[in-house]
Amino acid sequence: MSQRIERIELWHVNVPLPAPFWPSWIPGYPQTHVAQTVARVYAGDGLVGETGGPAFTTERRGLGDLLGGFLLGLPADDIGVLRQRLREASYLGWRNWWLEAAWWDLAGKLAGKPVYQLLQREPATVLKAPVYASSGSLKPLEERRRYLDEIRAMGFGAVKVRVKYPTVAEDLALVRGVRAHLGDDFVIGVDANQGWPVSLFGANPAWDLERATAFARGCDELGVAWLEEPLDMHDWRGMAALRERVRTPIAGGELHGAWHELAPLFEHGSLDKYQPDAMFSGLTVARQVMDECRRRDLDFTPHTWSNGFNMVVNLHAFAAWERRKLLEYPYEPPGFVPAAREGIMPAIPVNADGTIDVPQAPGLGLQLDERLLRRHGKRFHVATPARVAVRAIREKGLRAALLLKRAKEQAGG
Ligand SMILES: [Mg+2]
Repeated sequence: MSQRIERIELWHVNVPLPAPFWPSWIPGYPQTHVAQTVARVYAGDGLVGETGGPAFTTERRGLGDLLGGFLLGLPADDIGVLRQRLREASYLGWRNWWLEAAWWDLAGKLAGKPVYQLLQREPATVLKAPVYASSGSLKPLEERRRYLDEIRAMGFGAVKVRVKYPTVAEDLALVRGVRAHLGDDFVIGVDANQGWPVSLFGANPAWDLERATAFARGCDELGVAWLEEPLDMHDWRGMAALRERVRTPIAGGELHGAWHELAPLFEHGSLDKYQPDAMFSGLTVARQVMDECRRRDLDFTPHTWSNGFNMVVNLHAFAAWERRKLLEYPYEPPGFVPAAREGIMPAIPVNADGTIDVPQAPGLGLQLDERLLRRHGKRFHVATPARVAVRAIREKGLRAALLLKRAKEQAGG
């Protein structure tokens, strides 16, 4: 019998940034911490899978109560059954595909292979991944110049800038200035962050197809390598129409949670470049997107912004894509820097050739720093079969609890 899940620990982790960071996608909001929920999944014989999902604060406080009964006892090597359980748990309104990465970590450790090799369709060793510097704040050119010089000196040959000014003329002026500063050879992507608007703390200029077209035509002239999220994430037809009108490749898909949310983008021909985030969709879906991109001769490069787990998990997805070009490397000093982004694991440095190293250890190759985990984190839930049993007996009585246990065992965990 394969190894089964016998214990799950959940942690709130909140890593302070060295300075406030102002994400362009939440106008008016200063981010001061990288908040995440870390899960450790134990399968016996010292086998542990780890993952960390983006959080806002401690909103997952009750998650362990929900998931303990669903996930304890599952086979450590069956990601299909895990996804079914996560789906069942999601009917109550909670998406937790970020947990899937822990099972891939377990699967890689059991197979003695890095996760990217489990995801590949053709076996290959991938040592390095080319990255682009992904800025995160809306900054005028005068403030952006120093950043552009810095990333070029670091070895980057590609950058992504954000636009969100009230007028298309201001947005284009920024991109024009960045192009003039960097010269014609530097790769420039632009993110409009129109996909999943948040206007809780400030106005969020919303684009329609005409505004997106006007901006994208300007991008055509400036040799922009891709335009990301120019319209709402569900405006499949609008993005398809935009694609017909302009030459600049259209990108998106970063926050979709499942294949059925991504499939309409393919069906409508909405995007040139697919950017699912394997922590929001699960690695299984990221691989489905890869397969579809291969079939349709489209581009794939996952979203990585959030925390160190997001960076590493999506790095594995990217390394598995044989036509990989550039992966997102979130970087917006002085606030959003690798040491804070990774937070409780070693920071991932950029090599002088504009690449990052792909982990080669079995599993995800994470190396959590226990000291930092304890400093920035607090364990808030431990799920074990005994605890789940005690709860079931208290709630349902001994007889019903025993019947449930037997039924679950007969159903295979
Ligand atoms: Mg984006």
